[in-house]
Amino acid sequence: MMAQYMEIKAQHSDALLFYRMGDFYEMFFDDAVAAAEALDIALTKRGKHDGGDIPMCGVPANSAEGYLLTLIRKGFRVAVCEQMEDPAEAKKRGSKSVVRREVVRLVTPGTLTEDSLLDARRHNYLAAYAEVRGEGALAWADISTGAFQVMACPPVQLSPELARLGPREVLVSDGLDGARQDLIRDSGAALTHLSPASFDSGSAEARIQSLFKVKTLDPFGSFTRPDLSAMGALIDYLELTQKGNLPLLRPPRKQSLGRVMQIDAATRRNLELTGSLNGGRAGSLAATIDRTLTAGGARLFERRLSSPSTHLDIITARHDGVGAMLDNTGLAADIRAALRQVPDLDRALSRLALDRGGPRDLAAIRNGLTAAEALAQLVSGAELPEILADAATDLRGHDDLVAHLSDALVAEPPLLARDGGFIAAGFDSELDEARSLRDEGRGVIAKMQADYVEQSGIPSLKIKHNNVLGYFIETTATHAEKMLSPPLSDSFIHRQTTANAVRFTTVELSELETKILNAGQRALIIEKTLFETLRIAILDEHGPIGATARALAEFDVATALADLARDKDWTRPKVDDSREFVITDGRHPVVEAALQAAGESFIANDCRLSAGKGAAAITLLTGPNMAGKSTFLRQNALIAILAQMGCFVPASAAHIGIVSQVFSRVGASDDLARGRSTFMVEMVETATILNQADDRALVILDEIGRGTATYDGLSIAWATLEHLHAVNRCRALFATHYHEMTGLAARLEGVANATVAVKEWDGEVIFLHEVREGAADRSYGVQVAKLAGLPASVISRAQTVLEALERGEREGNQRKDTLIDDLPLFAVSPQPQVAATRQSPLEDRLRQVHPDELTAREALSLIYELKAAM
Ligand code: ADP
Repeated sequence: MMAQYMEIKAQHSDALLFYRMGDFYEMFFDDAVAAAEALDIALTKRGKHDGGDIPMCGVPANSAEGYLLTLIRKGFRVAVCEQMEDPAEAKKRGSKSVVRREVVRLVTPGTLTEDSLLDARRHNYLAAYAEVRGEGALAWADISTGAFQVMACPPVQLSPELARLGPREVLVSDGLDGARQDLIRDSGAALTHLSPASFDSGSAEARIQSLFKVKTLDPFGSFTRPDLSAMGALIDYLELTQKGNLPLLRPPRKQSLGRVMQIDAATRRNLELTGSLNGGRAGSLAATIDRTLTAGGARLFERRLSSPSTHLDIITARHDGVGAMLDNTGLAADIRAALRQVPDLDRALSRLALDRGGPRDLAAIRNGLTAAEALAQLVSGAELPEILADAATDLRGHDDLVAHLSDALVAEPPLLARDGGFIAAGFDSELDEARSLRDEGRGVIAKMQADYVEQSGIPSLKIKHNNVLGYFIETTATHAEKMLSPPLSDSFIHRQTTANAVRFTTVELSELETKILNAGQRALIIEKTLFETLRIAILDEHGPIGATARALAEFDVATALADLARDKDWTRPKVDDSREFVITDGRHPVVEAALQAAGESFIANDCRLSAGKGAAAITLLTGPNMAGKSTFLRQNALIAILAQMGCFVPASAAHIGIVSQVFSRVGASDDLARGRSTFMVEMVETATILNQADDRALVILDEIGRGTATYDGLSIAWATLEHLHAVNRCRALFATHYHEMTGLAARLEGVANATVAVKEWDGEVIFLHEVREGAADRSYGVQVAKLAGLPASVISRAQTVLEALERGEREGNQRKDTLIDDLPLFAVSPQPQVAATRQSPLEDRLRQVHPDELTAREALSLIYELKAAM
C-alpha cells in the first residue's frame, strides 16, 4: 500500500494527498505534518519508512469538506485520491492485492463547486494570464456558474483588472516575468504555475473547439494569440484538476478593455467598494446597499458594482429597469416575493455537470424553474422596459422539464443519491415494486419475531441487524442452553456468542434476508439510474437554464436597486456624453447609514465640476480636519460608480458625463506590510494617476503631500494640481490643508475653491459639514487637537507658538530663525487636577460638559457617547 501511495504522491508533489482508506482520508509524511498543523489535528505514526516512523494524520471522509475549506483557505492544494473498487474485489485478485486508487480531483482555490466551500453571494474566479511577445491577455471562468470570459490585458492593466475581478487563483506560465508574478501575488490570488506547453496558443484553439464542439471559434468572436493562450491554459488546467469531468462552461465571451470603468486596486480599497479598509465586507458600500434576494442576483450585483459600465446604452437600459420597478411598487413587491423561492440554479447546474451533484441539486433546478415560471406569469401583462422584457422571455420554456422533475422527485429529497429515497412513489413501477418488496420484508420480519418468541417461549428474543451478520436472532446469554438443545436447536442455527448474548439464524430468516437485501439493492440501483437520466435531461437544457438563471438575477438586481432607491430616496442620475459632473444634495451612503444608526443626520452637499471640451474642472477643497472633506470626496466618486453600474444615486439630482476611470488616493496611508515607506507609496500612487488619467477620468486626491515636510509637500501638491489641470485635463476633487494653494484658483481657469464650513463658538470649533464656495480662512488644527483630548498645557503652548509663527510670517521671514529665542519657555501651568495623573478621555469629556446648556436629547446622546467610550 505504501508503494502505491508513493507512486500517486509522486504525481502530485505540489498538493496534499488525501489518500482514502475506508472511512478516512489519510495523509502521510510531510503532508501529514503540514496538515496536522494547519487543521490542528493529532499527528500519529504508522509503520516505518527508511528506518524512521511514518507521520500520519487523517480526517473522516464524511466531514472532509470543512477540513478541505480550511486547507484551501490556508493556501494548500489538495489531491483527493479515492478507492476505485470494493476491497472485496481486490481480495479476489490475491490476498496481498491493494485496492485500486486514483486521484479523482484536485481541489484548488479557483476550482471549488461545493456550496459549503463557496460564498454564495460572490463569484469564485479562476483566471489565466498569458503573454505572447509582450501582449497580455487575461481569461477567467467561474466553474461554479459557468461564466467564461477573456480580454486583452496590457501588462500595466494587469493589477487593476485583478482588483476588479478578484480571482482566487491565477494560472501563469513557468516563464512569466517575475515582476508580473509579484503583482499577481500582491492581488491576493493564489499563483499556480503551469508548463509553457499549457499556454501554447496553437493547441489552445483545438482544445477550445473540442470543448465547445465547434469547428471554428469565429461565432464566439475574434481572438488574438494571447487570448487563445490564456483560454487554452485555463481549459487545460480544468481538465487536469477535474480529471476529465469538465465543467459546463459557457462559450467564451470577449470583453473589450474600454467597456468598463477602470478602477484600480488602491481606489477600490480606498472607496471600500466591496470590502472595508479593516478587512471583511461589513462597512463596505456593497454590504450597505446590496438588497438582492438570490445568490445569482447577489453575484450579478457584485459584478456590476465591481465593473461599472462606460456604455451609455447599457447604463440607460439598467436605469430604465430600476425606474420601472420603482414606478410599479406592487409588481416589484410581488416579484421580490417570488424571488425568495429561487435557489442557486447556476451552482446546482455546475455540480450536476461535474457529476458532483445530488438529489437536492435536481430539486433546486425544479424549484428554480418553477419559480421562474411563476415570475413570468406575474410580469406577463406588465409593460416592461427592454432589459426586463428580454429577461422575461428567458424565464419560460421549461414546462416539460419541470413536469418531468416534479413527477420524479419527492418534495424534499435527501442530500446524497447513494442512500436513495429521492424518487417519488408512482414515478417508476419497477422501483415501486422493489420498494414494496423491501418494505414488506421488514413487516414479515416483525411477524417472524413474534412467531419465534412464541415457539421458544423467550419473550426477550429479538431479530436484529448489523453490517457483519446481516439479520440475526438474538437472546440473552441466560437462554443459551435452551436455544442450543433440541427441539429448538433443530431450527435455530447458532452463529455467534458474545459476553451477554447468543445469536442465531434460521433458513427462513436467511431466505427472507436475501429477498429484502436484493429488493433494497435493486431499489437503489433503479434510483441511481433514474438520477442519471434526470441529470442528463437537465444537462441537455443547460443553455436555456443558464439563461433563466441570468434573467432571474436581472429581475433581482432591478428590484433590489428600486427597493433601495425608494427606501433611501435616491434619484435617477442623468448620464450622457458631456463632461459635466453636477451633483445636487449628494450623500455618502455608508457614512449616512452609520450616522443614522447613531441618531444623527447627514448633511447633503452639492458638487459642481463642469468641464468644457478638453478642459479640466477641479475643485480645491480646504477646511479643518474632521470637517468632512474625505467624506465629500469619496461620496462623489461613489456616486459616479453607482450611476454607471446602473443604480440610482444618493442625491436629489445628478448629471454625469460618462466617467472612464476613477482614481482615489489618500495621502500617506500606511502600507508597512509591503515594506514601503508611506510617503513612497503616496508618490507611486500619485505617479500612476498623473501618468494614466485621461480627460474622462474622475480623480479624487485627499491630502496628497501630507507624508513629507511642509514645503516639500506643498510643492508636490502644487505641481500635481497644475499637471492635472494642464495635462490630464480631467475632473478632479483635490482636498488639501495647504492654504497657500487656494491662490491657484485665481490663476487657473478650471480650478475653483471650496471649503467645508465650520463655526467658531466660545473658542471651540463646530463642524457644519457644509461644502461652500471659497477658501478656508484657518485650519483650526489646535482646536481640533483640543477636541481630541490633548493636555491643556500642550494646547495653550501650541496656541502661543502658532501666534508667534503667524506674527513672524506677517512681519517677514527674517524673524523665523530667532523665533525660538523669542518664545517664553514652556511651562506646565499648575493645574492640580490635570498635572499629576493622565486624564482618561472620559474625564476629559465630562469636564467639557455644561449641564445647564444641554437639551434633554443632547443629554441622552451624551450618555450614549460616554457609554461607548468606556
Ligand atoms: P476630514 O476628511 O475633513 O478630516 P472626514 O470626511 O473624515 O473629515 O469626516 C469626519 C467625520 O465627520 C466623519 O466621520 C463623519 O462622522 C462626519 N461627517 C463628515 N461629513 C459629514 C456630513 N456631510 N454630514 C454629517 N456628518 C459628516
